[in-house]
Amino acid sequence: MDRQWRIRVDRERCIGSAMCLATAPGYFELDDLNLSRPRNTVVVASETVRAAAHLCPMEAIILDETAGTAQESAHRFGAAGGEVADELRRGGAEKDQTSS
Ligand code: SF4
Repeated sequence: MDRQWRIRVDRERCIGSAMCLATAPGYFELDDLNLSRPRNTVVVASETVRAAAHLCPMEAIILDETAGTAQESAHRFGAAGGEVADELRRGGAEKDQTSS
C-alpha cells in the first residue's frame, strides 16, 4: 500500500501567497478568505506535496503520515519538525551542504 499523508493547512499561519498552488497544482485551493486549503485531505505521499510543504513561506502546511487505518502517527512537516521534515531536509541537504 502506498504511503498516505493527511494534509492540513494552519490557517493561523497561512498568508495566501498561493505558493502551494503553484508548487503542487491540484492539491490546494484558495478559499473565499484567500487562505489555502487542501483539495483532498488524504493523498498518496509524493515529492510534489513534500515540496509544497517545504516551500511554504509560513510553514503552514502540515503533513501527517497515515497508514490508511485508524492508527495514525503524527509525522509532521513544519516548525515542529518530524520524520517527514527530516526526510526532506536530508533530500534537500544533497543540494545545500551549508547547514550545520
Ligand atoms: S504556500 Fe503556505 S502561506 Fe502560501 S497559500 Fe500555501 S499554505 Fe498559505
